[in-house]
Amino acid sequence: MNTWTDVRTALGLKQIINASGTMTSLGASRASNASIEAATGILPFFVSIDDLQRCASKYIAGATGAEAGFVSACAAAGLTLGVAGAMTGCDPGAIGRLPKTNGLRSEVLIQAGHLVDYGAPIEQTLRVSGADVRIIGSATEVSEHNLEAALSENTAAAIYVVSHHCVQRGQIPLIDFIRLSHAKKVPVIVDAASEYDLRGFIACGADLVVYSAHKFLGGLTAGLVAGRGEFVRACYFNQMGIGRAMKVGKEGIVGALAALDAWKRRDHEGIRRTEDQRVKTWMEMIDRPGVHLQPSPDPTGNPITRLRVIVDATAVGCAAWDIARELMKCEPAIAVRTDGVDLGFFELDPCNLSDDEAVLTGDRILETIDAARMGRIKETDYGTWHRQRIDAQYMWPN
Ligand SMILES: *Cc1c(COP(=O)(O)O)cnc(C)c1O
Repeated sequence: MNTWTDVRTALGLKQIINASGTMTSLGASRASNASIEAATGILPFFVSIDDLQRCASKYIAGATGAEAGFVSACAAAGLTLGVAGAMTGCDPGAIGRLPKTNGLRSEVLIQAGHLVDYGAPIEQTLRVSGADVRIIGSATEVSEHNLEAALSENTAAAIYVVSHHCVQRGQIPLIDFIRLSHAKKVPVIVDAASEYDLRGFIACGADLVVYSAHKFLGGLTAGLVAGRGEFVRACYFNQMGIGRAMKVGKEGIVGALAALDAWKRRDHEGIRRTEDQRVKTWMEMIDRPGVHLQPSPDPTGNPITRLRVIVDATAVGCAAWDIARELMKCEPAIAVRTDGVDLGFFELDPCNLSDDEAVLTGDRILETIDAARMGRIKETDYGTWHRQRIDAQYMWPN
């Protein structure tokens, strides 16, 4: 057998059923057939990357309503390049000097409740460019005055994050954030890495919007940068500077374009119905005392409803995190959504599953709950669970 045709088995990697959504740490999403074919089609050939990115600009402009765009290595790279471009403009001297920022506007503003971590802290992703990050307001309370007071001659850009990771209250609405920033001639960069809405942020007046190509779009690993023409050009030129270490290849570029094309033709309503049906199936299946089920609409308004499984640890005999841990020990392993697990629940995301996998997930959850009720699952406190996860991570490569 050729090792590289069934690479997961050949390398002895465990099979994972992904009921957690688009997690970068699990390989993000199932790449769409269109993206796989596009990558296969271009990999054996040479192309002018600038020409390919010219095509990308047209595609991205068409899909987002922006003036221009390009494909970056990932959304995080798009954010770093966005901040870099805001500082340097198209000046080759400044691009070559980064991350030294002498002589440039070098401050970027971000609301405290937007300081997310997607596997790395956004604050550092912004700072990689050399920019100084200035945090405005407090985690749950940011006022327009905080923003107005921070905007200055030295502000290169203001960053707005749209994400379920953000504090969902007490932040300045995007429309007001843009109005106040533009009043001081400061461009706004929106991190919309895992948002479905490809046009809304540009339509709101954002100067630059960054998406992940490998999350809901189902492309290969890449990011999409869309925005005002001159701004996009400045970001693009920074690939000849600090952006070199975040290089996207021809396969990532065509993968992203094919994903955008497939997205246009996708039966969004049909897929929504299928996903809702999976949640309904789980609601009918998972019927046990001490377990409460609640449909959980996406907090940023993406058209996806997850299932929240709320575990009464006293009645069940173990906590939500213990069930999540046991599910990862199954064969195949089942990954559920664990942000919020310390609040007593985990969530099931229907978007990266087949119907069979959804049913298997429901079965395994029932078996795990029943085992817990019979006292066969070790109950841990949250601190122990959390520490064990981090310890396991830091053991790599052992
Ligand atoms: C996933 C994510 C990122 C990073 O995206 P990559 O394409 O994996 O670099 C950035 N911001 C937010 C809000 C995210 O959810």
